[in-house]
Formats: sequence, structure tokens, C-alpha cells
Amino acid sequence: MPFEDLAERVAEVGERLAAAARRGGRGNRAIIVAVTKTHGADAVHAAWSAGIQDVAENRVQEAVPKMRAAQLPLRWHLIGHLQRNKVKHLDGFEMLQSLDSLRLADAVDHYARDRGAVMDVLVQVNASGEQTKGGFEIAALAEAAAALTERRSLRVRGVMTMAPYTEDERVLRATFSAARAGCDVLRQAGHPATELSMGMSNDYEIAVEEGATCVRLGTILFGARSS
Ligand SMILES: *Cc1c(COP(=O)(O)O)cnc(C)c1O
Repeated sequence: MPFEDLAERVAEVGERLAAAARRGGRGNRAIIVAVTKTHGADAVHAAWSAGIQDVAENRVQEAVPKMRAAQLPLRWHLIGHLQRNKVKHLDGFEMLQSLDSLRLADAVDHYARDRGAVMDVLVQVNASGEQTKGGFEIAALAEAAAALTERRSLRVRGVMTMAPYTEDERVLRATFSAARAGCDVLRQAGHPATELSMGMSNDYEIAVEEGATCVRLGTILFGARSS
């Protein structure tokens, strides 16, 4: 059976999350969002069997068939860049974690309003200043936060960030605490921004110490990706 020991891994990660939250002393609790990209619907089923309730994909084209194949009451999160002409594929997603521009915000806002719905989103922030990373710069967040209050069919629930690929703990902590400050900026603008989606397989414990409420884990749960 593929992903045979997944339940054990989920239990172990769960313990590490709890311990990291205690060390951090911030009163946060982090949920696991299982990142199933490049894996098949069998990974989605295995995650569900292991007690996972949230799964994420970074491309809608890959997510939608898996969502249909799995037919499970999971919460789906989109964590990769979404092109504006693909917003209709958000149907079935619980949350767009990768809101990376105001133009995309407009497109999603229109999509949600047309359906008489409200879409939960996280604002993707580039907290490390790396040129290659998408999302809003921290310095641009106050202005974006104000502009987003006018997009009435979006509910801005917090921020999502990706740290640089490094083992340098100072760099990781600086990135995560900048994202946390970014979330405060959204809250100050009146958004119900309580979620901090940060931490991946290699840095999730530090992210939780820094206040993460959601860690996005692929490799540590499912093994290395083939593509
Ligand atoms: C792939 C991906 C992850 C998971 O990464 P792992 O290192 O495999 O845990 C998390 N977040 C985003 C945005 C991703 O694209």
C-alpha cells in the first residue's frame, strides 16, 4: 500500500507541532495542510485516512481532477499562483492562500460576488525580499490592506509566506516574524486576519515557534516529489 506509514508520520509531526508551539509561547495552534502536488489521488485518500482534513495544491489544473477523483469532505487550499482567467476553478476550494496581486483580488472578488459568495483568502507576502518570490512586499502591505477592504466579497484571513531555502535559523526567524508583522498590518486595517500560513517540511518547527497557525507539508509526509 502506498503511503503506508502516513498516519504514523502525521502523529509524529503533530507532536512536534505541539512542542514547537509550547516553545514559542505565543498561544498558537498549527494545523497540517498536506501538500499533494505531483502525487495522485491515492495520496489524498491516504491523507484523509491518516486524519488530515486540509489538503493543498499549487496548480488548479492539477487540483481539480484530484478533487473530483477523491470525493472526500476535505478542505482544499490553493497555494500557488493563480492566473486571473482561471478564477472559476476556485469552485470547490476552501481558501486561496496565494493572493499575490490586487488585480487577482479584483478577479476573485468578482467571481465570488457573481456567485453570491465570499471567498476566504490569505495575502501572500514576500517577507524575505528575494527577487524570485511572488507576493506583496511587506512595505506595500498597508496600502494593499486598505485597498482590499473595498473588495467586499473577499474575506482576508491572514498571510501566507515562503521562507528562503536555507538552514540559517536567523534568516528563517526574520522571515517568519516579518510575515507575522504583516498579518498585524492586515488586522489593523480591519481584516479578520488571524491565520499565519508558514512553514514547510524543512522549517515548520521554527515557523510554529514564530506563530504559524498552518504548516504546509509535502515531502515530510509523502516523500520526495518525482517532478
Ligand atoms: C510544494 C509547496 C509546499 C510543500 O513543500 P515541502 O517542502 O515538500 O513540504 C509548501 N508550500 C508551497 C507554496 C509549495 O508550493
